[in-house]
Amino acid sequence: MKIGMVSLGCPKNLVDSEVMLGLAQQAGHELTRDPADADVLVVNTCAFIDKAKQESIDTILEMAEHKKNGRCTTLVVAGCMGERYREELAREIPEVDIVLGTGDIDTIVNAIGGRAASPSTSSPSGLVPLLRGDGTVAGSPASVTQPHVIAGQALPTYIYDAETPRLLATPRHYAYIKIAEGCDYKCAFCIIPTLRGHYRSRSQESIVREATALAARGVKEVLLISQDTSFYGIDQGHRGALASLLRALNAVDGLQWIRMLYLYPTTIGDDVLAAMAESDKVCRYIDLPLQHASDAVLKRMKRPGTLAGYERLLARIRERLPGVTLRTTFIVGFPGETDDDFATLQSFVRRIEFDHVGVFTYSHEEGTSAHTLVDDVPAATKRQRQKALMATQKAIVTRRQRARVGHQVRLLVDGPSDDHELVLRARLEGQAPDIDPLVYLTECDPSAYHSGQFITAEVTGSKAYDLFARPVGTGVAG
Ligand code: SF4
Repeated sequence: MKIGMVSLGCPKNLVDSEVMLGLAQQAGHELTRDPADADVLVVNTCAFIDKAKQESIDTILEMAEHKKNGRCTTLVVAGCMGERYREELAREIPEVDIVLGTGDIDTIVNAIGGRAASPSTSSPSGLVPLLRGDGTVAGSPASVTQPHVIAGQALPTYIYDAETPRLLATPRHYAYIKIAEGCDYKCAFCIIPTLRGHYRSRSQESIVREATALAARGVKEVLLISQDTSFYGIDQGHRGALASLLRALNAVDGLQWIRMLYLYPTTIGDDVLAAMAESDKVCRYIDLPLQHASDAVLKRMKRPGTLAGYERLLARIRERLPGVTLRTTFIVGFPGETDDDFATLQSFVRRIEFDHVGVFTYSHEEGTSAHTLVDDVPAATKRQRQKALMATQKAIVTRRQRARVGHQVRLLVDGPSDDHELVLRARLEGQAPDIDPLVYLTECDPSAYHSGQFITAEVTGSKAYDLFARPVGTGVAG
């Protein structure tokens, strides 16, 4: 059968999509990027907040049209929406044939009908770009007339390993590696622990084997992800596991950047900072979602940190890792957030001068413990606070980016820019793909460079968050 996939949500979901595609291809199914050409359409959904749920529903309905007008016989809904609303989806959207939760992704082949008649010859590169929002691939078996809801009430326990087939949907030179799944925290605003189950770490050996195989395929940058990356190993009583993993990955030939995403403030130990400082391939990049800076709000959010503790931690990180890039996210408008709470947050952002800040407005999600509180901050106030905090941060970044002009930097070329054929997109060590701003390479012959190449360039200008640069000499860097 031909299988099409739409992957929504975060990189953790993307890895699940890559695993489902890998399993389907291994079973002999063919993959297609054209939803009209697919026998089976899989929508891997996100259910983090209302906006994400709406996008998931819209995409499911859009794909459902292909059951009426295309060759699609089977519509599969997988991922967080599947986990959270199994029964409702099957009941409310009759076109949905199969619902898979987050712990069921390894059952995709059985769910869509087992082994295909003959092995596929498509996707010889193993690279199938997934589309976020517009359709993609693959074929399927007989139509199922009754929605088939896979799996029951138990919390998910599945996590893939180095042997699991996986088709990379990212550009060839970088890949995500999920080092753990699930979360043991109980942040009041978050539904993830219910959807993804308890924290479970993969073994170091499995992760290093996967990274080695990725490097052999030309991957230069690996991004270590999980719900809480600094908790790695702690579920198995192994404190120090993350530092050990970083050192082991640093020794993998071919890798040039190892980047961690989603660290948690109370589990970044000195051992991790020491491993980062001594491992030349580990990016000096700390992604640390702090969510707020007012002690009262943090307490209601059921986060263990305090403002004073955060300030001490950030000072310690900057002391141990000079030149480190700090990224964080905040939620504004959490129930009970006062003007004073917000002022505390804003002055914290002003004082710390983070490199990258994301600001979200609080979304009142059923199934979270915060749902029992009154969602009392008006939507307009939430938006105002979001705008004000982003303006504060923009002024900081604009000034800091301007100060880079005239300096030489090492960049990783990502590929052609969407805006102009003579411009290339590139990133600094302090810029993660998809979430951070970019460096635009101008004044160069784009055909002389390729994706995944490291170059030396001089910063020639800045515009708010973005930088402009031109290659220096041959441009080739180590
Ligand atoms: S650490 Fe908190 S916010 Fe992050 S996934 Fe776990 S419960 Fe959710």
